[in-house]
Amino acid sequence: MKKIGVLTSGGDAPGMNAAIRAVVRAGHKRGMEVVGVLRGYNGLIGGELRPLGVRDVSDIIQRGGTILYTARCDEFRYEEGIRKAKATCEANGIEGMVVIGGDGSFRGAADLSAHGIPCVGIPGTIDNDISMTEYTIGYDTALNTAMELVDKLRDTTQSHDRCSVVEVMGHRAGYIALHTGISCGATCILTSEIPFTGDDVINRIKSTKTTGKHHFIIVVSEGVGGSEELAKRIERETGVVSRATILGHVQRGGSPTVKDRVAATQLGYYAVDLLSQDIGNKVVGFQHDELVNFDIQEALKMKKPFENDLYKIALEVSI
Ligand code: ATP
Repeated sequence: MKKIGVLTSGGDAPGMNAAIRAVVRAGHKRGMEVVGVLRGYNGLIGGELRPLGVRDVSDIIQRGGTILYTARCDEFRYEEGIRKAKATCEANGIEGMVVIGGDGSFRGAADLSAHGIPCVGIPGTIDNDISMTEYTIGYDTALNTAMELVDKLRDTTQSHDRCSVVEVMGHRAGYIALHTGISCGATCILTSEIPFTGDDVINRIKSTKTTGKHHFIIVVSEGVGGSEELAKRIERETGVVSRATILGHVQRGGSPTVKDRVAATQLGYYAVDLLSQDIGNKVVGFQHDELVNFDIQEALKMKKPFENDLYKIALEVSI
């Protein structure tokens, strides 16, 4: 291939810029031109393109968000939208695409591949909820952000002998909740993968109180929700003054950690390596810390087991 495109799609994640940088630099190293597509598939449909030379991606490895902007694009879900995107590629000589995003973005990449533009997907989402890979770009940064914020809450929670119910991101998966909960010593962690009810929370707070504990952190995954109601119930039924805090989008921002910069660089490089061999319709990721790739259709069917053993450890230790 002589010319490839790169776009970011779905929710932004810290480390996306590091991946863009790697794609651009690896592409140029192989003698390819690289074009940035703005605002996800919208930019492909509307022809919003920006040529990216090796110096155009200077000074972005440390920046959160995405210099290419990201968006959702309903039109791309339909045949007409995909045809327009293909026409943009053909008119601009783009022979392959790197798509950085989540499962939805990979479905789009599979459609575009089927229409003759080979695509390679790079998993970029703070939720770590993509089955074919053990790791997604942005996850480590989001965890560290959530941990720092809960640590700050803990100071005030401890000083006032209170309970903090903290809702963290993770719409479809509880990985952020589990890891934040463990790293912050949460008394309870609520995720949709593990049955742990409001009654369980109350009982656990009551029994932990008898061991001399005065303040409590309860971490709730976004997918479970109901933090405000849970805080009220805890206060009513245990007598511990409780506050709910929803961390929200702050978890998506910030400078990527070492892990995210390194993973993004590896994945970006690998994606270009595949495209340079005319291999498309793939998603790249990590299994046992090794780079792997799967056909997009196969990747989308895979199931990721939840970390039940880790959850058990958290339950035994946070008493
Ligand atoms: P996140 O994990 O952050 O939600 P995502 O990539 O899963 O990321 P989606 O909103 O599901 O986010 O998808 C992003 C875009 O991918 C959509 O706006 C749409 O343009 C495209 N897309 C999603 N599903 C399909 C599909 N079935 N066919 C074609 N394109 C799709």
